[in-house]
Order: sequence, then C-alpha cells, then structure tokens
Amino acid sequence: MNQIKSSNLGYPRIGEKREWKKVLEHYWAGNLEKDAFLKQMEEIRLQHLKKQKEQGIDIIPIGDFSFYDHVLDTAVMFGLVPERFENNSNGPVSLETYFDMARGNKGAVACEMTKWFNTNYHYIVPELHHVEPKLVENRPLQFFKEAKQKLNIDGKPVILGPITFVKLSKGYKKSDFNNVVKKFVPLYAQILKQLQTEGVQWVQIDEPILATNVSLDELELFQEVYHQLHEAAPNVKVILQTYFDRIDYFKEVCSLPVQGIGLDFVHDGGHHLAALNQFGFPQDKVLAAGVINGRNIWRGNLDEKLATITELSTFVSRDRLIVQPSSSLLHVPVTVKSEETLDEVIKNALSFADEKINEVVILTRALNNGIESVQNQITESTSAIQSLNKSSFRNNIEVQDAVNNIHLYDVDRRAELSVRQELQANAFDLPLLPTTTIGSFPQTKEVRNKRLKWRKGELTDVEYEDYIKAEIKKWIDIQEELGLDVFVHGEFERTDMVEYFGEKLLGFQFTKFGWVQSYGSRCVKPPLIYGDVDLKELMTVKETVYAQSLTSKPVKGMLTGPITILNWSFVRDDIPRYEVANQIALALRKEVDSLEKNGIQMIQVDEPAIREGLPLKRENWENYLNAAVYAFKLATTSVQDETQIHTHMCYSDFKNIIDTIDALDADVISIETSRSHGELIQAFEETTYNKGIGLGVYDIHSPRVPRVEELLRNIDRALQVLDPKLFWINPDCGLKTRGIEETVAALKVMVEAAEHTREKLLVNKR
Ligand code: GLN
Ligand code: ZN
Repeated sequence: MNQIKSSNLGYPRIGEKREWKKVLEHYWAGNLEKDAFLKQMEEIRLQHLKKQKEQGIDIIPIGDFSFYDHVLDTAVMFGLVPERFENNSNGPVSLETYFDMARGNKGAVACEMTKWFNTNYHYIVPELHHVEPKLVENRPLQFFKEAKQKLNIDGKPVILGPITFVKLSKGYKKSDFNNVVKKFVPLYAQILKQLQTEGVQWVQIDEPILATNVSLDELELFQEVYHQLHEAAPNVKVILQTYFDRIDYFKEVCSLPVQGIGLDFVHDGGHHLAALNQFGFPQDKVLAAGVINGRNIWRGNLDEKLATITELSTFVSRDRLIVQPSSSLLHVPVTVKSEETLDEVIKNALSFADEKINEVVILTRALNNGIESVQNQITESTSAIQSLNKSSFRNNIEVQDAVNNIHLYDVDRRAELSVRQELQANAFDLPLLPTTTIGSFPQTKEVRNKRLKWRKGELTDVEYEDYIKAEIKKWIDIQEELGLDVFVHGEFERTDMVEYFGEKLLGFQFTKFGWVQSYGSRCVKPPLIYGDVDLKELMTVKETVYAQSLTSKPVKGMLTGPITILNWSFVRDDIPRYEVANQIALALRKEVDSLEKNGIQMIQVDEPAIREGLPLKRENWENYLNAAVYAFKLATTSVQDETQIHTHMCYSDFKNIIDTIDALDADVISIETSRSHGELIQAFEETTYNKGIGLGVYDIHSPRVPRVEELLRNIDRALQVLDPKLFWINPDCGLKTRGIEETVAALKVMVEAAEHTREKLLVNKR
C-alpha cells in the first residue's frame, strides 16, 4: 500500500454564488433567526466537505470554515475578547460578541483588521492586553466530530499555530514574545490531547510565519513549543504547514518534532527542491508537497508538476508523500463552471478552487495508478494551456516588439527636478500650500444606478455620457466655489480604480462569479490579465478634457498605476510579472501622452498598492521595488518638463519605502497619513524630501467633518519637517465613499485651514 495521498489546506468559504455572504448579511440585517443562520451555515460547510470528498481528496481539511475570519476564530477559541466588548461569559464566546469584535457595536470600535501576509485577504488582529487566554471551546474537535457524524469524513483539523498566532496579535511587548507564546502552549496541548482521544489522525498546524524572515531565537522557540506539543499528544500526526514563500533554516525546520512538514513548491523560487538535494528529508516524516498554485487561477502544467513530485519521491518514500495545493484555496474563486460567458480559450485555461482540487487528484492518481489512468485529463489540460499560449491574445506582435525594445525608452524625465520645479511654478501660478483632492467625489446611489441602467441598455451611450458630464460640471462648480486650487473631474464614470481601466485595456477579462473573500462578507472580483496588454481605446481623455474646458484652474488627469493594476489582478503566469507590469506601463504611457497632447498639464498616477505587494522575504524587496519604480517611470516620464506628474499612495505604512517613493521621481505625491501620522512624519525627519508632497490632513474613512483646529494641528506638524514651499493640502484619499454634504463641509474646512496657515506663514516671514 505505497499510496501517495492527496490533500487540501483550506477551501473558499463564500460558495459558488456567494451563498455564504448572503446568509451572513441576512443574519446581520436581522432577517434570519440565529438557529436558521447556524443551520444554513452548516449546510454550506458540509457541502464544501462533500465536494472535496466526491472529487477524491484523501485528507480533507476541517475547521478552515469560518463565519468571518479564522484568526478571529482562534482568538475567540482562547476567550480573547477585548474589555470594551464586555464579555462576561466564561464559556464559549457568543455569536453576538464574535461579530461585535469583527464589526464594532454602538459602544465599542471593531478590532483592527490587516492584510494576511502578501494576500488581499484581511484578518482581524487579536488583542492580547489584559486578557488571560484560556481554552473556552475546542473548535477543531467540534468540526472533526461534525464531519465524522454527518459525512463519515475523517477530517484534518486546521489550526493556526501558536507562534504565528501571537506574531499576528497585538497588545504585548516585543521583548515578551516568547513568554506570551508559552502561555498558549498548554492550551494548544489541550486541543491536541482531546483530538488524540477522539482518534484524530492528521492535524495541520499552520505556521506561515516560517515563510517570512525568521530569527534564530524564533527558531529555538519553535523547537521548544513543538517539542511540548508532541509530548502532550504523541499519537496525533502533526503536519507543520508553511506557505506563500520558502522557509529559511530548511534543515532545522524539517527536524522539528512533528510528523509532517508542509512546504510551498510554487512560491519558493526553487529553493525547497534545492534544499532537499542538499539536506535530504528525514526518514520518519511526511512531506506535504504544495505543487498546485493556491494563489493564482491558471491551470498548472501537469507534466511539470508530475516531474516535480517524481523527483520528490526520490527523497521521501511514497507512503510519506502528500500532494496538495501550495496554500489554502481561500484566495481563489470557487469554480470555473459558473463562467458561461467567457471566451472558451481563456475559460479552458482557468483553474479555480474546484478545478485545483481536481488537479491535485489527477496528479495523485497518475502517481498511484500510472499516468495512463489520467492521460486524457493531462492531455486536455496541456492543450488548453497551449491554446491560450498560442492564441493571438498572447501574441500581440506590437506589444511584444515594444517590450523587447524597452531599453529604447528613456525612463528619466528630460530635465532634473529643480529645473522642472521652476518651469512648473511659472506654468501654474499656484499659491503657497496648494489645495487639491485625490480624485474621486461621492459615488452616490444615483451615479451607480445610472451606470447600471446604461449597462442594461436602459440608457443610451449618449444619455449616460451626458449624465456623467453633468456630474463633472456640478463638481467643477463646487470646487470653484470652495476655492480649491487644483481640480479633479471626480471619477463618476468609474466603478473601481482597476476595473475601469481593465475594461479599456486589451488582455483583461472580467469573470461573472470570480469572487474571493477580502474581509468578512466583503468579496472582490479581481480582473484576469490573460494576454498582452495594450490600449483598446483612450481611457480618460474625454472626461478630463471636458472638465478642463469648464475651468481656468488646472484639472489633474487621473490614472491607476501599473503596479496597483497588477497587484489587484490575477496575473498570467507564462511570462514574468514585471514584464506584465511593463506592458501595462507602456499602455499607460500612451494615455499620459494623449492627456498631455490634449492640454492636460497635471497627471496623477495612483499607486496605492505598491507597498502591499512587497515580498515576504526582505531579500526580495529590492528587485520588486526596482521593478515597481521602473514601471511607474515608464508610464510617466515621456512628458514635457512643464507637465506635473502626481502620484498617490494609501492603505499602508510607508516608513521603509521612502526611498522608493523618492525614486518614482513624481513631482508631487499625496499620501494617506492620518492613521499613522506620527510615524510618517518621523520618517521625513530622517530624509530630506525635495519634491511636492501632501500628507493627507484628514481621514476620509468616516463621515465626520473635521474641525479646523485638528487640520491646523496636522498641517503644523507636517510643516515642522517639510518645506512649506513644497507642501500640498489634501484629504487622505479619494472621496467616493463619502456623502455629498459631508464632503463639501470637510473640504470647506480644509480650504479654511490652508488659508489660515498661509497667512500665518506670511506673518512669520515679515
Ligand atoms: N484616485 C483614486 C480616488 O480618488 C485613488 C483611490 C485610492 O487611492 N485607493 O478614488
Ligand atoms: Zn488612496
């Protein structure tokens, strides 16, 4: 019985048609009783397990399902409820408190939410202050029993490991890290012991932290912790699961006292195979090999994957080999089957969660029963990939010529910064501390309704365009009245800053049901970049030129940058990512040129997602950041010296990428600041930033209208480290989620604060 086994690490929660989201939101809206909610959720959960079983997965994950987020589930399992939620239960945390922590309630703000490693999934940050962890319920055990009783499945409980869990939490001193982790060890031991008593075979303990830069101290902690867990429950087979990148200290991690090691063989840059060649693999352990990409939506090359596993089987005997995706399938949509309108060539080359599970099963069968047993499926898969590769979509000669001759483009501005600054100062005649906004104005229900009607054909193109024009005009008048210095057209024609551009670019496709969970019930539908990218049509010129025709103030052209488009899409995997970025950049360069030719003299290229795309490993940062800077410059540097290039960033902590921000060579940048004011300012203390810069002076995430004193304080603080001659005054980010009234009121306050500061500066000068 030298059988290789198939497994999975986690299954998407949301359901084929987002059933999960709907149940959740009905419950929140009060339209579903708690019992009905629990019942419907159970059905979804069991349905997902059944699907995996029917497809032929041997070791099925359980406990990966959640009502909101698996990190929150873990926190709640340990009774970690922040004081403000007034939890007085000693037993399991109530469903109400669980959702209050996730979403906030009248008296208490929600727990913070942040990105799960380098994905677009957001988890709830556990708060460890003032609460002693205790095991208030054994979740994995409950789910194990459920799967066993209802479906006769011997599931593999998935548990977030103690070291990663504490690493992702807040509310303790860094120097206390080891002690905090040790508080959790007995609780994990208790979970494992109970699982052991129940007869559980496999347990997957996720420690993705191992794929980041781990210190020697932490490595030692792993030794200690996993030793104790092993002592506590020697008969459960623990698979220490890592994903998203390679692990450092391969030999040491492989020798931890666990029964299996799960490794990502897709995002490791070939490191894991090399390490196996160098160090071999312990003869007493199972190797869970993540060979199917859990992060992308393309079919895998099964011949190559087979070769990889065959090579792995020279290090590990077959009965100790498990074939699986590289990570949980949480990060991909559910099934390609629902996509009825996609071009066949593209559709056939896709693989979402269900198809990936099938790929895992095919590979396992090929190894166990001989390749003949699945030859048809392998051939079909290979030819689907080939068809897409050979199609005109991926062979756009014009684009490929341009990319091959990319060295011919000058990616530096013609004149150096100081020369540009002088020319631009003359060209624009802006006051000190110019005021502007980030691009979007409120996307009201009306705006969205009109778009929907137009899409359904209930509004003609002309009617829709006229409506958009009227909105632009309305907001140009408002900006005029407010006395802002640099205007925007308001982005009323856009649903979303990536989708809008994707629809106007060749090589992009939108799915109907390709949703993935972003946080809680919120799902996003990233576009697919399947082919060579080029402009289908001009994207922004019409609206911008129209807006400019209505005013003598400069109107900023408004584009989304190449890296943000890339990071928020599913990207083809047949060519390097940076090459896709350069294709997008070349298309944007054409747009930038057209804007300029049509009289637009300020052009903003937003890159909010630069920072979040940073690789997990420090050693890969430089390559990534260089590629990002290159693509941005490729998109923006063709313009005249007088044309002012702006950029905008948000959602993150910019401290350690200030040099990159500088290297973009944008004449002006606006950065979201309010959520990390102090730190960002400190970063500017340490560098002299010599370009135009606007640190957001108020937070746009709440409808609250700020008081002028608050803004003055923010401006003053910034002016202590930044040159007033270079400082701009703007909100943190776009205003599309805000209401009209509050937006106008807040901007009025902002202009007032700018005027006030200008006067003060003039007085001081005298
Ligand atoms: N220009 C975009 C807007 O104003 C920027 C959005 C963003 O930074 N996320 O909406
Ligand atoms: Zn922003």
